[in-house]
Amino acid sequence: MATNKNYYDILGVSKTATSDEIKSAYRKLAKQYHPDFHPNDKAAAEKFKEINEANAILSDEQKRKQYDYELEHPGMRGNPFGGGGGFGGMGGFDDILNSMFGGGNPFGGFGGMGGGGEKRPARGADIEQTIELSFLDAIKGCSRTISYNRNEPCTACKGTGAKLGTSFKVCACCGGSGRIKYQQDTIFGRTIQVGVCPDCGGSGRQVLDKCPDCKGKGYQRKETRFIVNIPAGVDKDSSLRKRGFGQAAGNGGEPGDLYLYFRIEPHKLLKREDKDLHVTVPISYKTAVLGGKILVPGVEDTIELNVPEGTVSNTRFCIRGKGVKTVNGTGNLYVTVQIDIPSKLSREQIKKLNDYEGSVSIKSCEGMQKYANSISSVYGKKIDKQ
Ligand SMILES: [Zn+2]
Ligand SMILES: [Zn+2]
Repeated sequence: MATNKNYYDILGVSKTATSDEIKSAYRKLAKQYHPDFHPNDKAAAEKFKEINEANAILSDEQKRKQYDYELEHPGMRGNPFGGGGGFGGMGGFDDILNSMFGGGNPFGGFGGMGGGGEKRPARGADIEQTIELSFLDAIKGCSRTISYNRNEPCTACKGTGAKLGTSFKVCACCGGSGRIKYQQDTIFGRTIQVGVCPDCGGSGRQVLDKCPDCKGKGYQRKETRFIVNIPAGVDKDSSLRKRGFGQAAGNGGEPGDLYLYFRIEPHKLLKREDKDLHVTVPISYKTAVLGGKILVPGVEDTIELNVPEGTVSNTRFCIRGKGVKTVNGTGNLYVTVQIDIPSKLSREQIKKLNDYEGSVSIKSCEGMQKYANSISSVYGKKIDKQ
């Protein structure tokens, strides 16, 4: 699978390459390996395909981000919806990280190269939809009804556009091959390109008797509506694919796919990093000194955390297994405590605080004692608590 290839290596650029650097590397290599200069050279053709694949990903900001994410999280491939059992109720969905970089060549463009006279009607276009999720819904999983308008394959003619039981004639435009050749002036000079026949959409045939339901188009404009079960643990980089729920191709071609992306609202307190959750919680001076139980936000409910006595500000506690559950395991909840101080004290409180401070010896404050010793030895000055 193409995922094993490193697209940066293929283009010979660094991971931090700018889009201009990528463009220039791509042009250089594409020129070097262009099939026009290497007729009947399979290795060069393969290399050319690879270069185009790499460029298709890296030159597209969105796809590059997704690819970088996958590079950095090799374990997340096929995830968080990976092939495993957690996917049971999802029906026709599979994971885009697999499909996107797979052999399917969703980037087209050069698909016709070297393919010969293969008759294949063009595939319908893909559709993208974004689903808004709350922070916790994305973590816990949920279901959503989604609806959108698309060209749905006509059921009466099974998407062919021909009245059921009638036949087709050979396409006059392409002579039945489904492909036409045309000249194009490109940065490499004049080249012969092979494209899908515009008359028959690549099927190589034309309808004799049009389907009355769709008037020969092979599809009908309709609202598609269904319930999608969103698995627990989706993130902003996740997406789901529902095969065949994109635009109908017409001419009997395969419909495109539906890609679902997620926009996830931030949580008031929690922050997410892959499987782990992070939160910063204020605690009082007294709790820091004497210890105590505090309430911290969790996925299902609040969680009680025991703060031990003598806790300093910015101490981080880990609550194991209270992060995000994914098929790859469950993350942790990290709680950072910060000592919060009162902003306004009464005269009486100030007096009590002064009395208290005066009663505490520097010897019982380890950090302060060490500091005072250092100041004394380096600068020769004696300090007390400060
Ligand atoms: Zn029809
Ligand atoms: Zn044709």
